[in-house]
Amino acid sequence: MAAYAYETHEYDVVVVGAGGAGLRATLGMAEQGLRTACVTKVFPTRSHTVAAQGGIAASLGNMGPDSWQWHMFDTVKGSDWLGDMDTMEYVAREAPKAVYELEHYGVPFSRTEEGKIYQRPFGGHTTEYGEGVPVQRVCAAADRTGHAMLHTLYGQSLKNNAEFFIEYFALDLIMGEDGTCQGVVAWKLDDGTIHVFNAKMVVLATGGYGRAYFNCTSAHTCTGDGGGMVARAGLPLQDMEFVQFHPTGIFGPGMLITEGARGEGGYLTNSQGERFMERYAPTFKDLASRDVVSRCMTLEIREGRGVGPNKDHIHLNLSHLPPELLAERLPGISESAKIFAGVDVTKQPIPVLPTVHYNMGGIPTNYWGEVLNPAEGNPDAVVPGLMAVGEAACASLHGANRLGANSLIDLVVLGRAASIRAGKVVDAAAPNPVLNTASVDASLARFDALRHAKGSIATADLRLEMQRAMQDNAAVFRTEKVLAEGVELMTGIAAKMGDLKVTDRSLIWNSDLMETLELANLMPNALATITGAAARKESRGAHAHEDYPERDDKNWRKHTIARVTGAKVDLSYRPVHTEPLTSLAEGGIDPKMIAPKKRVY
Ligand SMILES: Cc1cc2nc3c(=O)[nH]c(=O)nc-3n(C[C@H](O)[C@H](O)[C@H](O)COP(=O)(O)OP(=O)(O)OC[C@H]3O[C@@H](n4cnc5c(N)ncnc54)[C@H](O)[C@@H]3O)c2cc1C
Repeated sequence: MAAYAYETHEYDVVVVGAGGAGLRATLGMAEQGLRTACVTKVFPTRSHTVAAQGGIAASLGNMGPDSWQWHMFDTVKGSDWLGDMDTMEYVAREAPKAVYELEHYGVPFSRTEEGKIYQRPFGGHTTEYGEGVPVQRVCAAADRTGHAMLHTLYGQSLKNNAEFFIEYFALDLIMGEDGTCQGVVAWKLDDGTIHVFNAKMVVLATGGYGRAYFNCTSAHTCTGDGGGMVARAGLPLQDMEFVQFHPTGIFGPGMLITEGARGEGGYLTNSQGERFMERYAPTFKDLASRDVVSRCMTLEIREGRGVGPNKDHIHLNLSHLPPELLAERLPGISESAKIFAGVDVTKQPIPVLPTVHYNMGGIPTNYWGEVLNPAEGNPDAVVPGLMAVGEAACASLHGANRLGANSLIDLVVLGRAASIRAGKVVDAAAPNPVLNTASVDASLARFDALRHAKGSIATADLRLEMQRAMQDNAAVFRTEKVLAEGVELMTGIAAKMGDLKVTDRSLIWNSDLMETLELANLMPNALATITGAAARKESRGAHAHEDYPERDDKNWRKHTIARVTGAKVDLSYRPVHTEPLTSLAEGGIDPKMIAPKKRVY
């Protein structure tokens, strides 16, 4: 192996990732007076959060009655009773505070006539514990909410003296012999140097792994790097079988048309021009939750009522809405429809299809962001020195299915919670850990081996094989047979990682090597997804199993824990937290309201 010199940096906290979650954590850590570095492979405002259109959910009640209890109920029901009640209560309760905080930091929210923050309806968000009308809960900056949030949070982080290491690719966690996380190793993309970040707390905020699939709304950077690092450190992933398909990706290219489009009055039709959602979800229609709408669209297509020459997609209609409203509230998607589908939304419907959009699963954490490594007798054991936030994490706010606009609120509420917790557990006066150099050497040996890989398969080809296998075998509807085939296929594909061929050996702007490292991270995410799905013999949220069409709370209301070593996945399970934080007597939610029941919209 080539010898790699490296520069060592010492911080109290190192955050990996500068999306909404990473930036909110970075800002919070810096505000706590901790010396904080944020390491990111892309410029902060290019993180995938920039693409979030629809908005951020919080029960401000600016447009009509609302309460955190209703928001919590909707989240519990959306999660199909797999979410952790403590996390769900914490986020629903803290959400309004977090949104006002964003407003004060400078996020330019859209406004009502009286100057309050404007809120729009979104799928699965209701009043009166699902018995009332859809609620207007989702705060938005037109259809560019994520963009506004990222720019604001980046500016605030700089103001608080957080330090940024931009276009540094984090390779691996540095783990002490006692299992404490001590930092990360990173490769600086523009000059090829290696950097070791020694920290008392590492926060993984690396986003989702949508790119494990062929068709997705997520950016090319969404490669599950945090999940890969965690798996290599011998730590588990949780609930990976739950992958959200968004009902309205543009047919073909897959770009997202926000649910806000249906929130503002848009609706879906089949080849007969029928508003078919009225048949499946009589109360909430096009605003039922995402897993439900995606399945109904797939059923319509299967039964021959798809639109287009091949009857293989669905229409989203907006042309009945006033052009001024489209220009004011949905300017970004009007433009996307024009560019990517050649459609003028004021006149024609947009061709759409369910597209991979969000990963409910991820690195298991509690609602303080502390990473969990379940042990015999202690399913909630914490990994010292390691936190995870945002889409990379699974604090189980979303359970088996996420509600629209509940991710952006997850990023800021739990990013903030992680910094509050770090303010308590990180001692700024204490010395930094003495690094386990064996862990650094192991990471550099892996890096070097991939850099010099001389096998027979190009990275792009193996990635495509994986993406097709996942798209075909772990989609909206799943069967025993298709999943079993998928596990076999993916095991074979993962085994070919040893036969990769990297042609560029340089260290500067080597995209071939970077994509290879990303593929090495996607692989354990994909394996855990398909293996967890094959094992789960029920239907719940985004996991629709045709051989087991019912939810089975007795046997399956539990989190899947997947440990991935090479091409091998070991599964175990961990109990769901079924108790909210606050009792009814102390002003909490009525336990009767959140007891499991059948999920209808
Ligand atoms: C098109 C689209 C629209 C959406 N709209 C909404 C919406 O309206 N409302 C809502 O609530 N949710 C929405 N979502 C979901 C939500 O936007 C995402 O879940 C969320 O933004 C993820 O944020 P994050 O901070 O976890 O990760 P990201 O924003 O994906 O950021 C990940 C960060 O990690 C860094 N990183 C990754 N790997 C490495 C590495 N190896 N080394 C160094 N850095 C690394 C990247 O540079 C980046 O800064 C949408 C998602 C998409 C794809």
